[in-house]
Amino acid sequence: MGIIRKTKAVTTVLQIFEERNEAKSVVHLIKLLKGKMNKTTVYRILDRLEQDGNIHSFNGKDGLKWYAKCEGCSASHHSDKHPHFQCTECDKVECLSIEIKIPSIKNHKVDSTDILLMGQCEVCCV
Ligand SMILES: [Zn+2]
Ligand SMILES: [Zn+2]
Repeated sequence: MGIIRKTKAVTTVLQIFEERNEAKSVVHLIKLLKGKMNKTTVYRILDRLEQDGNIHSFNGKDGLKWYAKCEGCSASHHSDKHPHFQCTECDKVECLSIEIKIPSIKNHKVDSTDILLMGQCEVCCV
């Protein structure tokens, strides 16, 4: 995978992730970018950005795909072994900067984890 071409569309998508350190669902992203680019382009850019280690994806509740900015990842070294937290009140999704110990399973090789913790965020639990 080569370095991603910084087209205007790519920059626009990246900016959304730079602005706030919060995960965005695909549905939300498509809504945000409506009028700027079509759905197919959004999907394509997200794919590219993920391959290049700019963002990572995971599954939220309801099977929705979410994307968030990667910290210190590159195309060759992608490690997103952190869990995510989804607030059941406001639907906010956060990356948790804690590492989950991956159990070693006999005769298996683990490539990725997808751990979603659910509950109330700091705003909603008061
Ligand atoms: Zn909340
Ligand atoms: Zn994350």
